[in-house]
Amino acid sequence: MTPGTTDVPVVVYHDLESWAAMRVLSLVALIVLVVAHVFDVDLGVFWVFAYGIPGSTAAIAVMGRRRIELDSTGIRVYRRGKLRLQRPLSSFSRLKPLFAGTVAIVFDDGAWTWIPSVGQEGTTLLDFLSATREAEVVRGPTRGSNVLEMRVTALRFPAGTCVGCGREATTTVDFEASSGWNFIFVSWGVSRTLRAPACERCQSRRKWLFRGAFALPAVSMLYVLPGPWSPPGQPDPIRTVAFIVAVSSFLGLIRWGDALFDRWLFGLWGFSLSRDTSRVRLRVRDPGLRHDIAGLARSPGTGVAAVDAEGTTYVL
Ligand SMILES: [Zn+2]
Repeated sequence: MTPGTTDVPVVVYHDLESWAAMRVLSLVALIVLVVAHVFDVDLGVFWVFAYGIPGSTAAIAVMGRRRIELDSTGIRVYRRGKLRLQRPLSSFSRLKPLFAGTVAIVFDDGAWTWIPSVGQEGTTLLDFLSATREAEVVRGPTRGSNVLEMRVTALRFPAGTCVGCGREATTTVDFEASSGWNFIFVSWGVSRTLRAPACERCQSRRKWLFRGAFALPAVSMLYVLPGPWSPPGQPDPIRTVAFIVAVSSFLGLIRWGDALFDRWLFGLWGFSLSRDTSRVRLRVRDPGLRHDIAGLARSPGTGVAAVDAEGTTYVL
């Protein structure tokens, strides 16, 4: 992508993608707040949204909603219709992760602007921007390591073959690459869906394996419950063990089940996003597939892209 070419479409980002929708949502949230206060209703965790939506809409309205345009000639930031920042793409330096879900676009001279790294427009803009960098290094495969690292948009799979078994691909499987924290029931960060070609057999094996795995905690839990197999009220070490097995395997499955089964079935696991969301790291067991993925990443336009129209999303 060289500056001066005009065949590249303009990428446009607006603060709060759908302004009209945000205003309607804010109005709804304000009505909910008034009703909740008048009738003393406890909104629980929804207080966050009830205040957050109108709050952020108001903040953007006060600061002035921005429009950011990006094309092969450079980047332009408008606020209230006025051009506030303009730089050629060649002066783009790096993406700097800010708090969760936002990144700063930093230029060589230190000027910067921020955008959310989530949502359709933000993701498209960041994908475009990161693709303009020097043909960036695909890390791996290296001897003794099954880790590959590359731009998210450079991740491609061989077309037409299942990533699990190499048979003809008739469907797809989704993997989640995320960045942030995951404490089983509480997670925080951003996530992007990566799609790979697969066959129906591997897809349904994955589904049934995951469901079947929950049978262990379920059966253990049944044993813990009082029943004819165990008179209630008597201390029973087997029931204590069954309880521990049930709870720990349930929590373990929630937290590590996907990675475990994807490693087993597809030999693809350990997906993670860089904090600025532009790069992905993954593990590939099969050396042949590992070399293919690295090769496809180095030759743009080949294979099938793992990312599609879906952007990066918040995980909460
Ligand atoms: Zn397969």
